[in-house]
Amino acid sequence: MSTGMRRPHELDYDAIQRLFPPPPEYFETTFYEDPDTIARKQLLRLQDRAHRAWRVPFFRRRWEAAGFHPDQLRTLDDLGRAPTYTVDDIRASIAEHPPLGDYQGVGLTDARHEPMRLYVSGGTTGRSRPTLYTAWDREVGAITMARALYAEGVRPGDVVINAWAYSTHNGAHAFDEALYRWLNCVVITTGTGNVTSTRKQVQLAHEYQASAILTTGDYMLKMAETAVEMGLDPRTDFNIRALPGGHIGNGERVEEVWGVAPVQNYGFHEVQNVAIGCPRRNGQLHILEDCFVVQVVDAQTGEPVPDGTPGALVITEIYKTGSPQFRYNIMDLSFLYPPGRCECGSWLRRMGPFAGRGDNMVKLRGVNVWPEAIGEVISDVPGATGDFFCRAVRAGDRDEMIVMVAGDTPPEQFGAVAERVESRIKEAMGVRMTVEMVGPGELDTFTGMGSAAKLVRFRDERP
Ligand SMILES: [Zn+2]
Repeated sequence: MSTGMRRPHELDYDAIQRLFPPPPEYFETTFYEDPDTIARKQLLRLQDRAHRAWRVPFFRRRWEAAGFHPDQLRTLDDLGRAPTYTVDDIRASIAEHPPLGDYQGVGLTDARHEPMRLYVSGGTTGRSRPTLYTAWDREVGAITMARALYAEGVRPGDVVINAWAYSTHNGAHAFDEALYRWLNCVVITTGTGNVTSTRKQVQLAHEYQASAILTTGDYMLKMAETAVEMGLDPRTDFNIRALPGGHIGNGERVEEVWGVAPVQNYGFHEVQNVAIGCPRRNGQLHILEDCFVVQVVDAQTGEPVPDGTPGALVITEIYKTGSPQFRYNIMDLSFLYPPGRCECGSWLRRMGPFAGRGDNMVKLRGVNVWPEAIGEVISDVPGATGDFFCRAVRAGDRDEMIVMVAGDTPPEQFGAVAERVESRIKEAMGVRMTVEMVGPGELDTFTGMGSAAKLVRFRDERP
């Protein structure tokens, strides 16, 4: 008797692996494909996704208004004809069609036929954003994450601590699925410091000689501190080879303390893992072009910018069967390297690391300022721990930024440290900000250290 239900194991795994090779095969095949092969594949997948998105109300409405039709996609350059949208458009869609919005292309009842997962974005500001993933989308997403982890040095048989929050957000689960289903790693599912104490996490990483710890750089520093308190040396008593996420925060300090350089990859809630660190560890990220087309536009005007110029990332996924994302202006800032072959041998387009949020931008006396850039500036000021939190406020008739900085000197020296930080910011960014010093750990309630998946570094308190 046919139930009309497809179980997870009934997915066409041969097709998935042929179309989206997992590691290590990926790094012997698709990763080195020539530009023509990549472009041909992208165009076919793009046309397919455009016709799928055309049947989704959110896209149909916007495309008709802009005079765009999927049949206009004859070359990759034609992609620029489709209008972009931002998270604000997604939020409006959710507000009008709660709870899922009208951009998903699949609904909860589709789960009767195909397994689905629902994850919602952190939603620190505004309503959180749901994304429905079909079983296919989960598997391909896990493969792309497995590629990132493999490029960073994680290998089959490794024990890995997953200290991301196993919560409503995709993050921890995406790592978990990559490690368990596509990389044959043994995952210890600690979750954050709120779920499993930092002491316990350090003990597990030590006892099992874990090869990677998945969490932010800020939490890695906290774990190092705890390890030292427990009489352990982060450099010699552990077997850590990879610190995915370790760049979030003070990556250089993480490298100093753990002796491992964190490598960046890039992903985002609705589209999953977009780009992986070059295996040569040169700070460049290779875009997974069998799954994505990435463009960069001016954050204010939405116009395309030349290669090498920083702007907002516009991402189109070409791997899913469920919720489409077609020219999504994510407002994350980065830039594209000119096309060409990387020193690692790959022709995949390269982008720079994540450089901040376009919508966190604050204009102070005509200067564009991003909180992430402030973090970069203060990371090596003596007396400051590198932990910080920025608040944009309105003072009289102009915008001001208050930078709260954690200090590790005796409090009576905070005044001198604050002066150093203020002058360093003025020198690097060309604009004065007010610095307020606090003790170590006092920013945790602002940043979500120990409880949140991604640290919050900025709050807009302007009316
Ligand atoms: Zn490379």
